[in-house]
Amino acid sequence: MENSSITACYNELIQIEHGEVRSQFKLRACNAVFTALEHCQEAIEITSEDHIIQYVNPAFEQMMGYHKEELIGKELTELPKSDKNRADLSDTINACIKKGKEWQGVYYARRKSGDSIQQHVKITPVIGQGGFCFAFTESHSFKCKNRRKDSIDVKSTTSQSSDGKKIENSWDSKCTDPAVLFYGKDPLNDNRSSYHKARKIFGIHSSLPTSLIFFQVINIINAAQENSPITVAEALDRVLEILRTTELYSPQLGTKDEDPHTSDLVGGLMTDGLRRLSGNEYVFSKNLNLSHSHLSVPNTINDVPPCVAQLLDNEESWDFNIFELEAVTNKRPLVYLGLKVFGRFGVPEFLNCSEATLRAWLQVIEANYHSSNAYHNSTHAADVLHATAFFLGKERVKGSLDHLDEVAALIAATIHDVDHPGRTNSFLCNAGSELAVLYNDTAVLESHHTALAFQLTAKDSKCNIFKNIDRNHYRTLRQAIIDMVLATEMTKHFEHVNKFVNSINKPMASEETGSHSEGSDCECTANMKNFPDNQTLIKRMMIKCADVANPCRPLELCIEWAGRISEEYFAQTDEEKRQGLPVVMPVFDRNTCSIPKSQISFIDYFITDMFDAWDGK
Ligand code: AMP
Ligand code: ZN
Repeated sequence: MENSSITACYNELIQIEHGEVRSQFKLRACNAVFTALEHCQEAIEITSEDHIIQYVNPAFEQMMGYHKEELIGKELTELPKSDKNRADLSDTINACIKKGKEWQGVYYARRKSGDSIQQHVKITPVIGQGGFCFAFTESHSFKCKNRRKDSIDVKSTTSQSSDGKKIENSWDSKCTDPAVLFYGKDPLNDNRSSYHKARKIFGIHSSLPTSLIFFQVINIINAAQENSPITVAEALDRVLEILRTTELYSPQLGTKDEDPHTSDLVGGLMTDGLRRLSGNEYVFSKNLNLSHSHLSVPNTINDVPPCVAQLLDNEESWDFNIFELEAVTNKRPLVYLGLKVFGRFGVPEFLNCSEATLRAWLQVIEANYHSSNAYHNSTHAADVLHATAFFLGKERVKGSLDHLDEVAALIAATIHDVDHPGRTNSFLCNAGSELAVLYNDTAVLESHHTALAFQLTAKDSKCNIFKNIDRNHYRTLRQAIIDMVLATEMTKHFEHVNKFVNSINKPMASEETGSHSEGSDCECTANMKNFPDNQTLIKRMMIKCADVANPCRPLELCIEWAGRISEEYFAQTDEEKRQGLPVVMPVFDRNTCSIPKSQISFIDYFITDMFDAWDGK
């Protein structure tokens, strides 16, 4: 539609760039590249670093006479080898690709029918870029010297592939080279293969072709860029950027090969329920606590008991002991810490609200945390607020965010688990709880925390911290808060972490290694402010890290948190058994669980990579 307003045109363009159309492009690009791979005439095989076959294309299937189901998941050594493949040749190949070098040469492989074929093979180790793998394959035509009757010519028979006919008698013609891609060592993290890392990040498992395909597609495009003319490479850059920021990152669940703690944690935290059982309604607390008058709280931040004030003196330290604050405040640490931290970040000034309103709001929010929960109580909220404030104090973060973002982050941390029932989303969905029905089994708790917090805030003007800000400010702030609380939902964990790595860490790293001078850090963060999308990614990552920072606290605190979360999970398992509901995390059985083992799994699976990324590693 024609429009004379420049602003309207800009808006239109931005819509096209960021809106639905872009998502369509993303999906189309992914599909197109995958289709190309499937129709590629070259035989392609992709294996993991430990030589487990991850993918073969139809040309490969035809050439070797196997169906892909017979190959995927198998170790190369499990397949019959040709006698002509001398051990020393394998050693040479291994030594070469281990060094990150490509190997090309003649290789004998045994087809399913038992006969050996001679192939010109190119093996490309796929070296991780910033922790990920990228692959490249290229084929060279090769005249086979040994003419054999039952050999094949993939190129000449591609058209026959759809009807699955066996191909024969074409040894005279060209043999297409199979390209074997190995996932190589991640140079940034040598003690763990990038394949395994990528598996975690992309959720690749042998039974999960979609994720694997997605990953492979990225590899192939990236590698193909190396030999492309600049215009093509640039176009592929755009395709890659689109793919890297898609929603396709979420790991698939139900992994057979993970340890039980990991699979239970993944299943328990990253699904919205296995199946619904009728008649097992989880009784959710309907008595929202709107009152705050009965609480003994300070009148001002200067009016706190000396023992509390003394503890709060250390509030800016990472080692701050939140449990001591919990004890001296009679399980009301959120009000006290909130007053101090919100004051430090100028929240009342930003919101133009009195300290009394802020105090009343903190009281209402804290009163709606369940002190009976072992873990998801107001001490956890205070802990997340503490970590958020700590992160906001870091130069890089400070330089990347605006004051509004800081205020939104502190509010989001404070409310992010309000009215948490001490049960996971899976549990609520399985139990067919009212909340699960209300939110269609989607981000049930996170939606509830946010919606309830805004309801509680607006209910009484005495605690309405937003009452004095103008509508536009309010809308922006509200949007930022909602976005952050929803980001704490664990089903999107890998998506958020990967978007952060691809859009923040990688560009920052290339700026730093580029020709920039020392002052370039400022340039980088100044850039960040010009990109609201990046600010959003930073805020999401920040609250996510703050939310699960407990394993990164001093050991004594970390152990206490581990005990608390385990107790909450145990209570859920007990209730699931009592009510005949599916047990979503069977390892969290109080009679058998090893808390240290479960913590190692949680840290390995969710924490290490995320904190490395947050740390810019
Ligand atoms: P939230 O419910 O917002 O606190 O989201 C964080 C998720 O991580 C929750 O499902 C917690 O149960 C889980 N979590 C946090 N810390 C731990 C821990 N130390 N061990 C296992 N799970 C944890
Ligand atoms: Zn939380």
